[in-house]
Amino acid sequence: METHWADAIADQILKLGHKHLVASGITPSGDIHIGNMREVVTADAVYRALKDKNADVKLIYIADTFDPLRKVYPFLPDSYSEHIGKPLFKIPCPCGEHENYAEHFLQPFLQSLEALEINAEILRADEIYNEGKYTQSIINTLEQQHTIAQILEKTSHRKLPDDWSPFNPLCPRCDSITRTRVTGFNSKLQTVDMTCACGYTGTIPVTGGGKLTWRVDWPARWSILGVTVEPFGKDHATSGGSYDTGRKIAKEIYHYTPPYPIVYEWIMLKGKGAMHSSKGLAISISEMLEVLPPEVLRYLIIRSKPEKHIEFDPGTTLLNLIDEYDRMDISSRAYQLSQTKKAWHSNIPFKHIVTAIQVAGDTSALLDILERSGYDTVDTRAVLTRAENARKWLDKYAPPYVKFTIQERLPQTTKSFSTKERQALLKLAEQLLEWNTPEEIHNGIYEIAKSVTLDPKTLFRAIYVSLLSTTSGPRLGYFLASLDKDFLIQRFDQAAQEQKE
Ligand SMILES: [Zn+2]
Ligand SMILES: [Zn+2]
Repeated sequence: METHWADAIADQILKLGHKHLVASGITPSGDIHIGNMREVVTADAVYRALKDKNADVKLIYIADTFDPLRKVYPFLPDSYSEHIGKPLFKIPCPCGEHENYAEHFLQPFLQSLEALEINAEILRADEIYNEGKYTQSIINTLEQQHTIAQILEKTSHRKLPDDWSPFNPLCPRCDSITRTRVTGFNSKLQTVDMTCACGYTGTIPVTGGGKLTWRVDWPARWSILGVTVEPFGKDHATSGGSYDTGRKIAKEIYHYTPPYPIVYEWIMLKGKGAMHSSKGLAISISEMLEVLPPEVLRYLIIRSKPEKHIEFDPGTTLLNLIDEYDRMDISSRAYQLSQTKKAWHSNIPFKHIVTAIQVAGDTSALLDILERSGYDTVDTRAVLTRAENARKWLDKYAPPYVKFTIQERLPQTTKSFSTKERQALLKLAEQLLEWNTPEEIHNGIYEIAKSVTLDPKTLFRAIYVSLLSTTSGPRLGYFLASLDKDFLIQRFDQAAQEQKE
């Protein structure tokens, strides 16, 4: 059997040492979506693989709360234009219930992490800066900024402006970090001289007084926190990209071995491209957890190698994903690495639950239907959790062909049935009581079609028309098994009668 990618990566990492810090992170500037989730689940899979190999390993998640707001995103009120350029932790939360803008987007994500059982230590960039953990690195960086500028220009093939500084001071007057400029610094006093476009000029302490620019912040952080493994998107992995410049800066400036890189591909929204919350083109993790069990959401990421892009479609693909997960060999690594403690291995295909809840009026009817069609519902709470998932999925994402309504009366369209169709339906009404399982029903329908020399597909269609007034519907054997037999017999009997105007 092929080694799972997380184990293969863990083996490579263990060649470098026994003790590891796996880092991942995000800028919480908008809803944290399924696309962003790939990073943290990838990190967690490798973390779990390392733990299984008895490595001394820790997982951290860094929220880049000190990053500035870049623009007024479509989901923000226009009034947020006054906050452009301020760090996210200094901006008010859009709903008024969180401590700041960053927390507004971070909190639902942290709840999702809990559901996904990703036990990362959460760090916030503003706290790391304000606690002074960066201070010595910032001084070293300012002292060597010419060397750093050379590395950046040479490696990334871009010219830096003459007044470039690796440090973005935070203006004490207007809170901007994008309109400020460093004019000098004092290593001994650990202060920076700065000016701001708002008119402010002054000297501020390095600690909490601003942040390093991204390409320098990243390698500085590796050395400050001791990061040895980090997954990141392919945009950072290009030649001359931020990992390329980062590893050189790490080695030459901070004398630190860059982390083992795990480059991952995007999760694409089927037919729409890569997910971007800034373009409103994304599904948040909490939204997905309403329709998917956490272990299946983990499995979506864990089943694919990081370098392969994932095409995600909350409609049919998702339905198939759940069934694929439920059918998996529980000894397979992808299955094991997807597990959560509360995970429930269902023997009821999700597709059948989707059918059953559309047949059932309420919860007890649902359980009856599942039992009638041969499923074990002893673990009622687990079954009902899946049923709740299915209900939300039907409301929000199900393609139209999955939805159906059982017609209270015999549809008018049955009038056009042929004599053979009527014969077959009559036989069906007579024999239905003899069959119990979905398989028996399925096979019985084929036999009946054969006995009256009717194409089985035509009979299938006649059955759907009689019940749903549509020419197709859910898998027939299971569907009929889930319905009340007296009702079915009466309906097929009725449909078999020649109807006179
Ligand atoms: Zn809020
Ligand atoms: Zn200012």
